[in-house]
Amino acid sequence: MMRQFDQDCIFCKIAKGDIPSKIVYQDEFVTAFEDLSPVTPVHILIIPNGHYRDLNDCGEDEAGLLGHILLSAAKIAKIQGISDSGYRVVANDGPDAGQTVFHLHFHLLGGRPMNFRSQ
Ligand code: C5P
Repeated sequence: MMRQFDQDCIFCKIAKGDIPSKIVYQDEFVTAFEDLSPVTPVHILIIPNGHYRDLNDCGEDEAGLLGHILLSAAKIAKIQGISDSGYRVVANDGPDAGQTVFHLHFHLLGGRPMNFRSQ
């Protein structure tokens, strides 16, 4: 069963439409919107509509949801026109990774070459 809305969570509010954002894709399970501070020409955040803190907060019950998020990333990359040039999908999980918003999210990054070892 999908997790419930967390009234203190900014990404929950974005998914629900209570806080405006540039939503580029949405379905029953996920919402994707433009990052407010993009680091690449295409920088989209893909989030589950239900509240999960991070990957550690997910278990086997979320296997389908996590697969759906990755497939959505590929779909959104196509919509954004970066399928052929390539893109990166990143989840920052926990302090060492610099996670700042504690609602699971995947960054879809593209539109310029990226060097994995330099960031
Ligand atoms: O570091 P972390 O993976 O937690 O990144 C959170 C992202 O959420 C940042 O890239 C930030 O620009 C973005 N953000 C946003 N809109 C908000 C708050 C954060 O796009 N209201």
